[in-house]
Amino acid sequence: MVRTKKVLKKSLKKTKVQAVEPIILQTLRGMKDILPSDQPYWDQVRRVTERLARDYGFFRMDTPIVEYANLFTRTIGEGTDIVEKEMYAFTTRGGDKVALRPELTAGNCRSYIQNGMSVFPKPVKIFSTGPVYRYDRPQEGRYREHYQANFDAYGEIDPILDAQVIQVAYRLIQNLGIKSVQIQVNSIGCPVCRKDYRNLLVNYLESKKAKLCQDCKRRSTVNPLRVLDCKEDKCSQVSASAPQSINHLCDECRTHFKVFLEYLDELDLPYIINPRLVRGLDYYTKTVFEIWSGAEDGKKHSLGGGGRYDGLIKSMGGEDTPAIGFAVGVERLILEMKRVQAKPYKAPRPRVFMAQLGNLAKRKSLKLFSELEKNGILVAESFGRGSLKSQLKVANKLGVDLTLILGQKETLDGTAIVKNMATGVQETVSVDKLVELIKKKLKADNVVVYHN
Ligand code: AMP
Repeated sequence: MVRTKKVLKKSLKKTKVQAVEPIILQTLRGMKDILPSDQPYWDQVRRVTERLARDYGFFRMDTPIVEYANLFTRTIGEGTDIVEKEMYAFTTRGGDKVALRPELTAGNCRSYIQNGMSVFPKPVKIFSTGPVYRYDRPQEGRYREHYQANFDAYGEIDPILDAQVIQVAYRLIQNLGIKSVQIQVNSIGCPVCRKDYRNLLVNYLESKKAKLCQDCKRRSTVNPLRVLDCKEDKCSQVSASAPQSINHLCDECRTHFKVFLEYLDELDLPYIINPRLVRGLDYYTKTVFEIWSGAEDGKKHSLGGGGRYDGLIKSMGGEDTPAIGFAVGVERLILEMKRVQAKPYKAPRPRVFMAQLGNLAKRKSLKLFSELEKNGILVAESFGRGSLKSQLKVANKLGVDLTLILGQKETLDGTAIVKNMATGVQETVSVDKLVELIKKKLKADNVVVYHN
């Protein structure tokens, strides 16, 4: 008896402890819900990206959000902000060191090698999209969870591909209704020419070290190229006179860059050469680029960026495979769409409402609804309501063209009443003929009713 009491007390104590820890009813800092009201913008981005991927021959691939952490540390680079400061890395219960992906290319390359995709006809073009994670300081357009749409092409060294992926990125942004953007391009060379250039830059930065911010003082030896795109004023001043990679390219990289620019000219793309554009990831070689929003006032945002990574697959243990890719940030695109008042996706709305009256009709209405849906006809309903008046009120509010009324008599007869909401005219139709009749009526009225 005494023991039972003790146990009871203990379990009560436990319950008490659990009860005082409330659920925090908010998203983590830097993360957000994508609510139904915002989905038309997301739908538009999804539709445009998927369509372009298809049109330019990119196949969709999805890889896990969690990978071994060293996939990112080794490819993106130890000295980069993404790896050093922003990675969500943790050890699993099984002792694996893993990380939430901070970008999509590393996982795609891992999958390319793991799944033997090098046997496919080149270039192997892969499209992927999903959330990525960076533990950055949140602000407008900068989140800890954000979505990217990513295009990668493997196995082609020709600079025509560099121009083509920029064309895809540009088309994507244009198709979303964002017309004014600037494309910045640069070449950061290959491991051969970068070595000499890096030494030059390190020496230069060493001579200006006192003028650099704390971060760049450290970067100047670990990752000197990153100093060039530091946003601090004093660092910008130092990098303004720094040696530029395009003046120190080897013959192969110089020709590649020259031909690439010729293709861009051919495409009439609005680009500028930004000799300080280096991108924040170590794996890039030769061509790098970014696309910036055209906001004249306020803060400009990078909408997307990418470049060549000819050495990456080999450095990961795969075959020697040149590659190029880019990613756009979906939230940034949507911010810009809203700023320039670009149109979100407008989903087709139902033109038919189904009303039911009485228990038998109610039971039959679910099946009839599904019959119409199978035939591509969008139907609205309010099955939970009993009175015909209140259902017709909903139908009116939705502005449908036709309302189907299913009562006890119609159900027994195998018919339905079709009411024209504009004229109020009603006709009784056999349920077997309903699909054809609705299609005919709505087509005649020249309205879109079908799922596409
Ligand atoms: P990056 O490879 O870092 O240049 O990222 C590609 C694109 O993703 C950028 O051009 C941005 O549009 C977007 N992006 C990068 N970081 C963030 C972030 N923290 N929050 C929202 N969007 C981001």
